[in-house]
Amino acid sequence: MEQVLDQVLDIVIIGSGPAGMAAGIYAKRAGLSSIIIEKTGICGGQVLSTYEVDNYPGLPMKSGFELSEEFRMHAERLGVTVKAATVGKITEQENLKLVVTDEGDFLTRTVIVATGADHAHLGVPGEEELAGMGVSYCATCDGAFFRGRTVAVIGGGDVAVEDAIFLARGCEKVYLIHRRDELRAAKILQDALMKLPNVEILWDSQLKEIHGEDQVDEILVYNKKTQQTDSLSVSGVFMAVGTIPNTALVKGMVEMDEKGYIVADETCATSVCGIYAAGDVRTKHLRQIITAAADGANAVTAIEQYLLTI
Ligand code: NAP
Repeated sequence: MEQVLDQVLDIVIIGSGPAGMAAGIYAKRAGLSSIIIEKTGICGGQVLSTYEVDNYPGLPMKSGFELSEEFRMHAERLGVTVKAATVGKITEQENLKLVVTDEGDFLTRTVIVATGADHAHLGVPGEEELAGMGVSYCATCDGAFFRGRTVAVIGGGDVAVEDAIFLARGCEKVYLIHRRDELRAAKILQDALMKLPNVEILWDSQLKEIHGEDQVDEILVYNKKTQQTDSLSVSGVFMAVGTIPNTALVKGMVEMDEKGYIVADETCATSVCGIYAAGDVRTKHLRQIITAAADGANAVTAIEQYLLTI
């Protein structure tokens, strides 16, 4: 197993989504020694499962995969190192940090936690039991299995509406089930959704149960206004009820808010000197690709200043 303890890096970047890749690019351009550690070995993070990104300036109408590839190629061209490994823990060693991974340990002056967020689960009966058997958290990954079928998407944010639009291309019918009477998604997505004849929005509605033997065949949906519970025949249920930050690695180490996001401002500095949080893992107003990438840049710039003080 590789031990890299003879070399002290300036930055270990954990995660290769837009925040991590931008941090890698900025670190390289600043002449700082750095490495990006990515547990899947595939750069991109959550963006990889976005079917289309149309709000990143200069790169319109890209699939999430294409945009991730642009980031990766840009980083590679500059010589950014990406290592496939899973980080087990981070410990403090005086002014330095030890990043312990299953592929060796890295001694570094600073760490950027850019671990992003995972899909939230709803916790309704049937959800865990039928996961992978009709219950999905990724429309772009699993949507093709439901061609010509009727499916439901749960949620009212950007992901839910994007998923509904994507699924409507191949599915016979898509129910969008949202707990309120207005969507949270961007207006441009809402407008596109409303034009689709095979999408039906169930407002003020909550998914209560998912049924099926070894494949989803029915869901129970409660309407808060009518106080009625209806049964719908569907083959798939796509959960898009938000995300939870991947912060287990630094739990109890850095300050977090009540939702589990790492408390950090625009400099991305956390409550622990030398540990920075960039992208969806940190407290912030807007979690999008562009703000995640901006965090990567800000974190490295803040680190340049910090390195002058230790
Ligand atoms: P989100 O914006 O937090 O939306 C989550 C949706 O799930 C909301 O509509 C919420 O309802 C609903 N929800 C949450 N908990 C629920 C529960 N227990 N029962 C029923 N419904 C529940 O999350 P997201 O859509 O996954 O997006 C995550 C982030 O990525 C956002 O910041 C989003 O803007 C960003 N994103 C951006 C783009 C883009 O710019 N193209 C694309 C994808 C994602 P309420 O509305 O009632 O709270």
